[in-house]
Amino acid sequence: MLMGDARERIVAFGKRIAAEGLAVGTSGNLSEYDPTTGLMAISPSGFGYFETTPEDVVILRLDGSVVEGSCRPSSEAPLHAEVYRRRPAARAVVHTHSPYATTLAALGQPIRAVHFTIADSGAEEVPLSPYVTFGTPELAASVGKTFGEYPTTNAALMENHGLVACGTSMATAFALAVNLEFVSRIQWQAECVGAPRVLTGEEVMGVSRRFETYGQPAGNEA
Ligand SMILES: [Zn+2]
Repeated sequence: MLMGDARERIVAFGKRIAAEGLAVGTSGNLSEYDPTTGLMAISPSGFGYFETTPEDVVILRLDGSVVEGSCRPSSEAPLHAEVYRRRPAARAVVHTHSPYATTLAALGQPIRAVHFTIADSGAEEVPLSPYVTFGTPELAASVGKTFGEYPTTNAALMENHGLVACGTSMATAFALAVNLEFVSRIQWQAECVGAPRVLTGEEVMGVSRRFETYGQPAGNEA
C-alpha cells in the first residue's frame, strides 16, 4: 500500500480528534501530503474515527484523481488540496468542527489574540473565511483566497462550519487545532462576561521570538 506510515497516522490522529471532542460523529477529516510523489492520503468519507482502518485511507492527487483505495475520499479533499497548494511547507492538514472554534465561526468572528499561544498559528489572528457549502470546490477556493490574503497563517475559520489547520507534520497540525480550540474557548468565555484585551501585533511577535528558544535544544529532546 502507498503511504503506509501516513495511513497509520491518519487513523491514530483521527481517534485523537474524536477523543478530544474536536469533531462530532463522522465530521472533520485529516490528510498528509508528500510533495516528492504529489500524493495526498486522506480519511475516507462518512467513516467513524474508531471504525477507520489504514486500508480505508484514500490516496489521491491534488487534482482529486484517486490513485489507491476502494473508499470514497473525504468530501473536503479539494479543501485539503488547496491548503497544500497555498502552503508549500505543509505536510498535514486537520479539519475539525471543534465546538469553541465553531462557536466563533457561527458568530462571524476570527480567532483573536486573546491568549499569547495564538502565535502558534503563525499570525496574530486566525482569519474567518466566508460561508460556502461544505465539500464544494467553491469552499476550497474561498478558503484558499483567505490563506492568500493572510500569508503567514497556518489556520483559518470557516464561517458557520469549523476550523482548518496545517503543519509540517501531522503532530504539528493536530497540536495547532487543539491549541486554537483552547484560544477560541478563552475568547468566547471572556466575551461572555466582558471585553477581552486583545494582544497587539508587537506582543504576538514577541511570543514568536520567545518560542524560537523555548523547550529543549536540538538533539536533547528526551
Ligand atoms: Zn467540515
